[in-house]
Amino acid sequence: MTLNPTAYSDLDRQFINGIWRSGRSGKTLSNTNPYDGSVINAISLASADDLDDAYCAAETAQQQWALTSHGERSALFLRVLSILDTRKEEIIAWLVRETGATLLKATVEWNALRGGTLEAIALPSRVEGKIMPIDIPGKQSFVFREPLGVIGVISPWNFPMHLSNRSIAPALALGNAVVVKPAEDTPVTGGLLLAKIYEEAGLPAGLLNIVVGDVTEIGDVFTLHCAPKLISFTGSTRVGRRIAELAVTGKRLKHVGLELGGNAPIVVLDDADLDVAVRAAAFARFFHNGQICMSGNRIIVDTTLYDEFVERFVDHVRTFKVGDPADPATVIGPLMNLKQKEAALQNIAMARAAGFEEKLGGEVDGLLVPPHVFAGVPNDSAFAQAEQFAPVAPIIRANSEQEALQLANATEYGLSSAVFTRDLGRGLRFARKIEAGMTHINDISIQDSPFNMFGGEKNSGIGRFNGDWILSELTTDHWITLQDTPRNYPF
Ligand code: NAD
Repeated sequence: MTLNPTAYSDLDRQFINGIWRSGRSGKTLSNTNPYDGSVINAISLASADDLDDAYCAAETAQQQWALTSHGERSALFLRVLSILDTRKEEIIAWLVRETGATLLKATVEWNALRGGTLEAIALPSRVEGKIMPIDIPGKQSFVFREPLGVIGVISPWNFPMHLSNRSIAPALALGNAVVVKPAEDTPVTGGLLLAKIYEEAGLPAGLLNIVVGDVTEIGDVFTLHCAPKLISFTGSTRVGRRIAELAVTGKRLKHVGLELGGNAPIVVLDDADLDVAVRAAAFARFFHNGQICMSGNRIIVDTTLYDEFVERFVDHVRTFKVGDPADPATVIGPLMNLKQKEAALQNIAMARAAGFEEKLGGEVDGLLVPPHVFAGVPNDSAFAQAEQFAPVAPIIRANSEQEALQLANATEYGLSSAVFTRDLGRGLRFARKIEAGMTHINDISIQDSPFNMFGGEKNSGIGRFNGDWILSELTTDHWITLQDTPRNYPF
C-alpha cells in the first residue's frame, strides 16, 4: 500500500456509503477554533434522509463484512496503524485546532487512538464460541458468537477521535458496520478525519458512515431507526437517559452502551506521600482543563494533611501556563465553547456566593479560564456535587478514613476514583469499597488502557469498553443445536 503524504482535504462533507457528499438539511455548521475563534470550515448538515441512507448502506455492507476472514479484518487495522503513524503530526494539529487541546493532550489522544488500533488488530481472532453439554440423545449444542450488525455511535467533543474510535475499531474488527454522529463542536476529529483514515486503509464502502447533523433534526431518529442493534453513546447523563428511553420505546428494541458523566473523588489518606498526592491531584484535576469524565472532580484530604496539602497544591497549580494550546508550555488552553465557559463561571460564582475559600483564581479571557481552587468545600454542596468540566478544583476536608470513604461515595456518579496512601493493603481495601467502575491507588483517576476494563457504575453509565469487555458488548450469542439422529416425540 502507498501511503498518501498529502494532508486530507474535503473534510466539510458527510461520509455516507463511501461517498463524500453535502448534507441535505439546508443548515450549515460553522466549525470554529476555540482558541482564536477562526472558522475552520463550514459543513452542510445531514437531514434525516441522509441518516437513513447511512444506516441502509451500513446494513447492506455489514452482511459481506461479517463473512470476511479474521486475517482480512486484522490486516485493515495494520494499515490504519501505519496511517496513524505517518499522519501523526496532521492528526495532532487537527486536535489542537478543532478541540483546543494542548499539544500534550492531543498527543495523549493520538496515543490512545494508536493503542485502540493495536488492540483491534488482535480482536478478530479472539472471538470464541462454545460446545455445550445437552441431555437429549443425538443432539449437539453450540453457542456461536456473532457480530451484532449495525452499531450507532454518538460521541462527545472532549476526546473526540479516541471516543469515537473506541467504538468504531472494535465494532469493525468484530464484523459490524458503523454509523457515527460526532459532536457539533468536533465534526472533523470526532468523525470525518477517522473516515479519511479508514478510507485510505481500504475499508469497503458503507461500513463506516459519518453523519454530521443537528440533534434537533437527527438526534432522536438516530436511536429510533430500525437498523442499529446497539447505540454506543458517550456523553452526558442527561442525554444518555434520553437515548436509553428511546432505545426501549422505539419500534425495535435495541441494546445501549452508555458512558456518561463522572464526579471522581481523589482521596488523600493520612499516610499519603504528599508530594505524590499533590502532583497527581493537580494533573487529574487540570489535564485538558478538567474537561474529562474521569477528571478528579472532588479532592478529599484527611484533616491531618489538609492544610499542607492545600498550600502545596495551590503553589503548584499557580505555575500553570494559560494560553495558546499550540505552545508546548501551555497547561490550560481554551474551554470548548461558550456553553462550557458559562457553566464554569456559574460554578465559580456559586462557590464565591457560598463563601468557600478562593485560594486561586484569575481573570477570564475569551474561552481561557485560569485555574481556580476552592478550599473548605462541603461535599454535599451543589458546587461539589456538580461535574465541573472546567479548571476548577473543590478541596474537601475529611476527619477520618471512614468519613473519607463516605464522602467519596456520596455522589450520583461512579465512574473513576483514586486513593493515596503509603499502605498498599489499606489502599486496596479502601479501593474495593469505592462505588465506582474504576479506582486507581496512588495514581490519577484518568486512566484508559485498550485491554483493561473501562466503565462506570450508578449514573455514570451502563456497559464496558476495551478488551474482552467490548468484545462481549459488540457481539451476540447464538445458541444452535443439531439433531443428528431422529428423536422420539411424545405425540
Ligand atoms: P452531551 O451529552 O451534550 O453530548 C454528547 C453527544 O450527544 C454529542 O454528540 C451530542 O451532539 C449528542 N447529543 C446531544 N443531545 C442529543 C440528543 N437529544 N439526541 C442524540 N444525541 C444528542 O455531552 P458533551 O457535553 O458533549 O460531553 C460532556 C459529557 O460527556 C460529560 O458529562 C462527560 O463526563 C461525558 N463523557 C463521558 C465519558 C465516559 O467515557 N464515561 C467520556 C467523555 C465524556
